[in-house]
Amino acid sequence: MNAYERYRVQPGRRIELGDWNPAETAAFDGDKKAGQDATKELNKRLESLQELLYAEGKHKVLIVLQAMDTGGKDGVIRHVFDGVNPQGVKVASFKRPTPEELAHDYLWRVHQQTPGRGEIVIFNRSHYEDVLVVRVHNLVAQEVWGRRYEQINAFEQQLAEEGTTILKFYLHIDKDEQKERLQARLDDPEKRWKFAAGDLDERARWPAYQTAYEAVLSRTSTLHAPWHIIPANHKWYRDLIISQILVNTLEGLDMRYPQAEEGLEGLVIE
Ligand code: ATP
Ligand code: MG
Repeated sequence: MNAYERYRVQPGRRIELGDWNPAETAAFDGDKKAGQDATKELNKRLESLQELLYAEGKHKVLIVLQAMDTGGKDGVIRHVFDGVNPQGVKVASFKRPTPEELAHDYLWRVHQQTPGRGEIVIFNRSHYEDVLVVRVHNLVAQEVWGRRYEQINAFEQQLAEEGTTILKFYLHIDKDEQKERLQARLDDPEKRWKFAAGDLDERARWPAYQTAYEAVLSRTSTLHAPWHIIPANHKWYRDLIISQILVNTLEGLDMRYPQAEEGLEGLVIE
């Protein structure tokens, strides 16, 4: 089974994260070095696919990244998209909503950031925070967040029907791996800025977050916007698998460069 199918959540499948090994590297036959080389090769293909997507100006691509703190969203953005033309690729990061954002419905700020034709947009966090952190911290009543799974499915379906290709990735690490990574942030003066005191409070809520993620993965993986559970304890494997899924999906779009004007062939510039 290729990585594409192995980690994709079939619609309606009930997910228990305990069944998914965050440390596995099973879909690649090679060591870390070989994996990193393979990712570099895929990266070159991604570069030309993205150029083609931009030139053709037809498809829109939305990539959603969600993870527990230190799960590696920033690393994926750096490694998987290394070298792509920044003209056609945007990152949208969703932080705690501003008062203006809070005055609107939760999808308002999200819809504005969705990709236009020829664009790839990466969501670093997303509307899923509105059923994750919001649920874990009871920021709205249960009956309010409880309705959002269906609303999100309908929203994504609308984007898909209007021509957006959507891929969603949950970067799956375990609690021990997070401990290592948080400690590394504290110990390294150049990484310490990434550490927020609130990260410890969130860590203490690990089980509640896992439950909230299980609901997301069980209820919002659809044919038009599938979730993938990416084993992410090994950074090289995480980057490799996401690169594979991305390249595979873009190749499936069957894109073409636009027709050039007539009569340019053989033209010599004096
Ligand atoms: P990250 O942790 O994603 O790498 P960061 O460390 O730069 O980013 P943070 O200050 O941690 O930035 O910003 C993200 C915070 O905003 C997270 O704690 C996240 O849960 C919170 N957040 C995002 N969306 C919402 C939302 N809709 N409601 C409440 N909190 C939200
Ligand atoms: Mg953070």
